[in-house]
Amino acid sequence: MHLNGKVAVVTGAGRGIGKAIALRLAQDGANVVVNDLNADNVAAVVREAARMGVKSMGIVADVTSKDDVYRMTDRVMSEFGRLDIMVANAGIVTVNTVLNLSEDEWDQVMAVNARGVFLCNQAAAKQMVKQGGGKIINCASIAGHQGFPYEAHYCASKFAVIGFSQAFAREVASHGITVNCYCPGVVDTDMWEKIDGALGEINGVKKGESIQKFIDQIPLGRVETPEDVAGLVSYLASPGADYMTGQAINICGGLVMR
Ligand code: NAD
Repeated sequence: MHLNGKVAVVTGAGRGIGKAIALRLAQDGANVVVNDLNADNVAAVVREAARMGVKSMGIVADVTSKDDVYRMTDRVMSEFGRLDIMVANAGIVTVNTVLNLSEDEWDQVMAVNARGVFLCNQAAAKQMVKQGGGKIINCASIAGHQGFPYEAHYCASKFAVIGFSQAFAREVASHGITVNCYCPGVVDTDMWEKIDGALGEINGVKKGESIQKFIDQIPLGRVETPEDVAGLVSYLASPGADYMTGQAINICGGLVMR
């Protein structure tokens, strides 16, 4: 197992894509720290990961809070003594027209998706610099490569993640730290259920029709699973990706090609 003995933190890992990533990294042999806001979900994922024979610890923390994020990395260091992989996965979405978008809605999405990535990267990299290396893996999106209507604020937050990651990759490369992004497409999670409902209201179509419109455009012909995304993250965390940094890889069934 290529991650034996490594310590990985996955944020927003209580459900959806983050949960699949935490379990995949555990399957790969890593000890995993499961972060989320939802304590029950954290506990359930920790139990599932521990059943794979690795050490697992849950930390309820808000990635938008500097205190929470630094408390989290301090606890990781006191429990495991190292931090090798930071997967900054936590993210939120809302669906709105720019004409109706409030500053609060903009700030909320930017706080989790962009500030959360910045804080988790900074806190993790401080440990990784001391250790002489590490892998930082940030969640962007195909919406970090292309604009989608009613998602201007979300797209801005994901473009921010990619720009931040490119700059940070150059800053920390000499410390042996790589920084890459994964860019999912249309993944079957609670998040897309929310998007589908909201797009349906804006466009006056029934539940399920909005997501189906996207799926119809996917060359590989099906919706993405959280495990599809976890496969890419497993690779980015592996020694096979040692020579890769500053990249933002689409994993989207070909929906976006660039
Ligand atoms: P989800 O809503 O199912 O899960 C997100 C998790 O993050 C939840 O458990 C939530 O409690 C947690 N979270 C939210 N705010 C947090 C905070 N401040 N601190 C800690 N945890 C927090 O979403 P998902 O579909 O699994 O999405 C995961 C990531 O993938 C997000 O960054 C999202 O933007 C990105 N993404 C999702 C899709 C998709 O189609 N679902 C596509 C592209 C990118």
